Amino acid sequence: MKKIFLVVLSFTIALGIISCSTSKVPETESEITAQDAMKHLTYLASDELKGRGTGTDEINIAAEYIADNFKSFGLKPLGDSGYFQNFEVTTGVELTENNSLSLDIGEKKFAFVLNETYSPLGFSANTSVTGEIVFAGYGIEAEKLGYNDFADVDVKDKIALVLRYSPEGDKPRGDFADYSSTRYKASSVRNKGAKGVIFFTGPNTYEDDSFIKLNVEQLGGDAGLPIVSITTKVAEEIFQVAGKDLLALQKEMDSLKAAKSFYFANSNASISVGLEPVKKWTRNVIGLVESENPVYKNEYIVIGAHYDHLGMGGRGSLSSSKEPEIHNGADDNASGTSAVLELAQQFSAKRKLLKRSMVFMTFSGEEMGLLGSAHFVKTPTIPLDKITAMYNLDMVGRLNQENSLTVYGTGTSPAWKDLLNEKNSFYNFKLNFIDDGFGPSDHSSFYSKDIPVLFYFTGTHSDYHKPSDDFDKINHSGLEKISRFVYDMAEAVNQKEDAIAFTKTKSEPRERRPGAATRVYVGTVPDMTTQVEGFKLSGVSDGSPAEKAGLKAGDIIIKFAGKDIKNIYDYMYSMQDHKPGEEVDVVVKRGEEEITLKVTLGLR
Ligand SMILES: [Zn+2]
Repeated sequence: MKKIFLVVLSFTIALGIISCSTSKVPETESEITAQDAMKHLTYLASDELKGRGTGTDEINIAAEYIADNFKSFGLKPLGDSGYFQNFEVTTGVELTENNSLSLDIGEKKFAFVLNETYSPLGFSANTSVTGEIVFAGYGIEAEKLGYNDFADVDVKDKIALVLRYSPEGDKPRGDFADYSSTRYKASSVRNKGAKGVIFFTGPNTYEDDSFIKLNVEQLGGDAGLPIVSITTKVAEEIFQVAGKDLLALQKEMDSLKAAKSFYFANSNASISVGLEPVKKWTRNVIGLVESENPVYKNEYIVIGAHYDHLGMGGRGSLSSSKEPEIHNGADDNASGTSAVLELAQQFSAKRKLLKRSMVFMTFSGEEMGLLGSAHFVKTPTIPLDKITAMYNLDMVGRLNQENSLTVYGTGTSPAWKDLLNEKNSFYNFKLNFIDDGFGPSDHSSFYSKDIPVLFYFTGTHSDYHKPSDDFDKINHSGLEKISRFVYDMAEAVNQKEDAIAFTKTKSEPRERRPGAATRVYVGTVPDMTTQVEGFKLSGVSDGSPAEKAGLKAGDIIIKFAGKDIKNIYDYMYSMQDHKPGEEVDVVVKRGEEEITLKVTLGLR
């Protein structure tokens, strides 16, 4: 079915009437209609665009499509190069020349072959180390479970040989779940002074006896020490030389839930890791409908949506298939993108009636951590303090029979609720208001700059982040209805005498899963746009423990309760050892200064 598009496309090119760059702009009415929105949506979510993964060629085609439409609607370019605002993202890691692994135990030498018997992990540090080897079991210290692989060995200045998973195997929701990830283990052995880590899958675990494949995992920062993984087969040989039967040893650990760590006598390992981030340029697409009102034209209302999705899957995909598949992202977020296009066209047609100017933005890199919107607020092309309001549409294609529409950010201006209820009298949505200005999409970036925001969302579903999020499941008339609702809301704010006021909101710690471990809550909002050593904040939630302690946007947390924080993962894991109500020291870098703050941990 989706092939239809290719046929239409090659037909227009064959005619050669329209120039190449505008060949894809479909005929659309200036009014918002379901039919027009679906023209945009089916193209953006077509297999041809391969899921619009950030950094791919296909997302660039999508960007051009959006820009061509903006142009044909008469919008002015508002990027840094035409309609585009370019920024760089890290999309992967590659191996350099500097990778090696060797290991000696007494007279026995083990040589390793890259990608055959071992591989570095994607979040390894780029460095070389040598040291004695110590078997540190599963690399788990879990006080509340009465289990400690480090009770009888000290990994300080050594290279830790560590089993993947836990004594419960690879069970994702067991008692050991919080301690089982390789990220967590790397962070914990580094905090105990280890120089490097060698991971392997034990013979008593699952069928996967291979090393862990290199993955795009440096996104959250590297782990601060070199990490490799080796095959189970080589691991068994290593244990054999030390006079141990690995299978028997692991079975004992697993059945007794008992640590069996030990030092390898006369041992030495040399690890050298060289990884290079793969950087790609990507772009936001920004267009302006300029008001002709002499008093108000330099004030702006932003309507935005992210246009990237997960491409062929990978990180973020919830697909059960391990093969790459096109994640079309019809609802997430071709729906919001097509709504933005429809809104841009209609506002442009009504330009003469505008008080304030209207800005239309589609963001890249949202799925990688709101990168596009964060880039915009960091290097805005219009003054941020002249933005009166920002409306974000992300997943608005699945309006259900009950007409339930969730709106986030309703607490970010005292004007919002009355206005939403007033305009809703024409639509009869069952509105679900969430006051919080922070949330899982691009409006968060604007809210962090004290801009009133609203985020429209028809809810998550079983196709979320799966290849099955396709155009045939979109509620056409629902998409039109929501777009019109957003139009009415934006128009109302556009016509006001005074800009609406901004208010800060209290973030509600999310409801706890029944049975889940007690989680501590701090209220920090990560800044994923800059790679720094530590955990950088783009903001703190209002009324949160972080705010009360004096943490601020821009702070880089480098120590939490005495533990070094090198990346976001260290930060997350550092909480596992603490309880709500506890007071901990948090050291932040603020500019050149290092400041220690006392945070009383909250309850999530
Ligand atoms: Zn998504």
